[in-house]
Amino acid sequence: MNINWGVDIIDFVDIPNALTCARCKKDGLSKQDLKRCGGCRAAMYCSRDCQREDWPSHRPLCRPGSVDTGAQAVGYQASMSLANAVRDWANVHRETVSTMVHALVRSAGGVERVLKDEEGVFICLRSLQRVFDNPATALEITSLSLLNKHVRSEPIFVQWEEPQKSYRESLAASHARKNTNPRRAGMIPVTYVVEGTDLVVHSQETLYRPHFHASDCPVDELTAAAFKDILSLCIRSVSTGLVLRASSGSDSVVPDAGYMVRQKKTWEWKRSEDPTALMLALINSDDVPRHTSLSITQLWALWKIW
Ligand SMILES: [Zn+2]
Ligand SMILES: [Zn+2]
Repeated sequence: MNINWGVDIIDFVDIPNALTCARCKKDGLSKQDLKRCGGCRAAMYCSRDCQREDWPSHRPLCRPGSVDTGAQAVGYQASMSLANAVRDWANVHRETVSTMVHALVRSAGGVERVLKDEEGVFICLRSLQRVFDNPATALEITSLSLLNKHVRSEPIFVQWEEPQKSYRESLAASHARKNTNPRRAGMIPVTYVVEGTDLVVHSQETLYRPHFHASDCPVDELTAAAFKDILSLCIRSVSTGLVLRASSGSDSVVPDAGYMVRQKKTWEWKRSEDPTALMLALINSDDVPRHTSLSITQLWALWKIW
């Protein structure tokens, strides 16, 4: 894998109340305050001036052909349209991504330790043939890992170190400004790469301390194994286009599951009638390695009490 940090880093921050100008990095703007680049619909700016100033560096990413990051080889016109697909995918699957990141971090020693040791999440994606442009099925996860100090000294990740460092500093500053929820422990950088391309997309995930547990990581074998099952289930559900949302009813521990459905110009999430049955079918398929024999409800119940 050849990661070219010079031109391919595209920061995106697309969570409510945290919208940021791609040029001056002013944040806390609302969607109405920001103007999207008409070319890629991905880069967002606080003003025309910022957009104009950013154009020389944005142009190669926005327009096809000027910089080859391999986006065309995986079915996209330009780097920015692939970055856009990654952003939309991450946004649609935000509940799943958050669950996976927490399962990974807790399994690796917990939120506080991972933040203290400045680790980051690395998610490798593969571009799938896009079915009617459904944002949920544009990509699938091929690997998910935590980048710790040991891994980061490997040659492939040395280049990763510098941009992550400055990104982490801006995340810490942003976190300090906005932190009002006592469970919010900090923000972890999440780096996406797309197989077969040089594209690197930076994102972030808010890390939360456990609700009910004094210890921040599983101390018994069953819980540790259950977290692995949660991870497998999440990765598998993403590949099949299943989109999870936090459970709406207080009586169910299983997250709501559904699919993205085309509504005229946009895609909307539609809840399935029986999320538990959908997940049961997934987890019983042969390509999902199981680490426990817990039922779907037991798995999510165990997850929820964290
Ligand atoms: Zn600006
Ligand atoms: Zn653009």
